[in-house]
Amino acid sequence: MSTFQGTVGEIPGICIDEFQGENSKSSAFFLSHCHSDHMAGLSFSFFSKLKKSNRYLYCSHISKSFLKSIYLDSSANIESQVIELAVDEPHIIDYTLSDGNKSSVTVSCVPAGHCPGSVMFLFTLKCARILYTGDFRINVEDFSRLRSLHFNDKTQCIPLTIDKLYLDTTFLNPKFRKFPSRIESSKALCEAVESWLKVHPNNIVHIEISANYGSEFLFMDLAKNLSARIHVKDRVYDVYSKMEFIAGIVTNKPQSTRIHACMNKMHSMQDGAQLKCRPEVSPQHILTIVPSVMRWAGRKTFAVIERDDARRRVYVCYSTHASLLELESFVQYFKPKEIFPCVCNGKDEKKRMEDMLREIGERGQDCHDSPPSKKSKIMISQHKTFTPGAFKSQLLSDEESSDSS
Ligand SMILES: [Zn+2]
Ligand SMILES: [Zn+2]
Repeated sequence: MSTFQGTVGEIPGICIDEFQGENSKSSAFFLSHCHSDHMAGLSFSFFSKLKKSNRYLYCSHISKSFLKSIYLDSSANIESQVIELAVDEPHIIDYTLSDGNKSSVTVSCVPAGHCPGSVMFLFTLKCARILYTGDFRINVEDFSRLRSLHFNDKTQCIPLTIDKLYLDTTFLNPKFRKFPSRIESSKALCEAVESWLKVHPNNIVHIEISANYGSEFLFMDLAKNLSARIHVKDRVYDVYSKMEFIAGIVTNKPQSTRIHACMNKMHSMQDGAQLKCRPEVSPQHILTIVPSVMRWAGRKTFAVIERDDARRRVYVCYSTHASLLELESFVQYFKPKEIFPCVCNGKDEKKRMEDMLREIGERGQDCHDSPPSKKSKIMISQHKTFTPGAFKSQLLSDEESSDSS
């Protein structure tokens, strides 16, 4: 859950992912992705104020589609006040400082691999390069393909030096050292679904998700691998059905599919729970699949999947945030001079995270021979060079990029 306050000292006229109170007076707004903890303050009245004052919110194409399907009424002014930014292209955004002076900043959207449409923002100023990751998960092998974060010429791409990194620290914790890649998790999940459906023609699967939105990559994998649609709640369907990337893989007709993600978690956790949309199916024909990482916290041994046959439940380790090892690799690859944890509760946790990040940076530095910069709070050393590659898709799910290598 993001605890980022929304503002960055070097760019005082803008705010990111936090739009309430004083932040609502900013002159430009940036939304990394459409999860509620990054959307605080967005409302009909927020967008109507933007309209009246000629201000804009910037986000990816898919995030704008989400906003349009959430704020259906044209009076929400989404079409006119939300500007989509193409990924991996620099955009110059003008904004106004609190003293009324005009300024501008160059912004690039970088694929974040967290959910469809999720992006990181790279702000390039004369004095600094600032990267805000939002929520993110990128395979380590794919770092060199993040085009906007590299200096590219014809023969090589060199990672840019990041001055300030605002980092998704959801799993900056030794308890969450390593996760299976999303390909591995997804493969295990699809196999579990497929084998259950084969056992008996009446068998159906219920995917227990903890929030209405955020499982889109998982739904896309299931639909692709099993050639079936996913039944979702009516109000979720109303949103998805207006979005081209997901409309074709969900349904609001419960009888038309054996894969369901349509029920509240609390109800489905009860033993003997039935699916509300299919009351004729007896509980022994329902397999509940729980994608989660919390069950694996602090474990030394690791399995992608765990079964509780007595309760007909299958747990799959599935994460849309970077693991500790992935965070370490990211920090050691881009060598930011300063790092700000964006998911931390309270001063003690903030201090613990800052200490960890400093130690991670120093360890990375030990791996290289160059001397540290005097300015560097974390580390700076010589960058390696990498061969450039291309992502297959604007969505940048990690599986797409890895498949292409
Ligand atoms: Zn998120
Ligand atoms: Zn259903």
